[in-house]
Amino acid sequence: TYVIAEPCVDLQDKACIDECPVDCIYEGPRMLYIQPDECVDCGACEPVCPVEAIYYEDDVPAEFAAYTKVNAEFFDSI
Ligand code: SF4
Repeated sequence: TYVIAEPCVDLQDKACIDECPVDCIYEGPRMLYIQPDECVDCGACEPVCPVEAIYYEDDVPAEFAAYTKVNAEFFDSI
């Protein structure tokens, strides 16, 4: 799955939402989240993010490592 990280917080550009073929990017109160069970790993969202907030799960930088869980847990809470 792909993961949205800290640069999205309080930005929510939403360019990624238009690119996602399966509509698995959802709006939260302060950032966007990728539903890990729905993401098909197409990678279309990653290059359109203006702040490089989106990473493949194996490529999430260490400083944003917590965001893999943050994305998944958002969907546990709704
Ligand atoms: Fe959607 Fe593809 Fe990005 Fe997954 S990798 S969130 S399927 S655009």
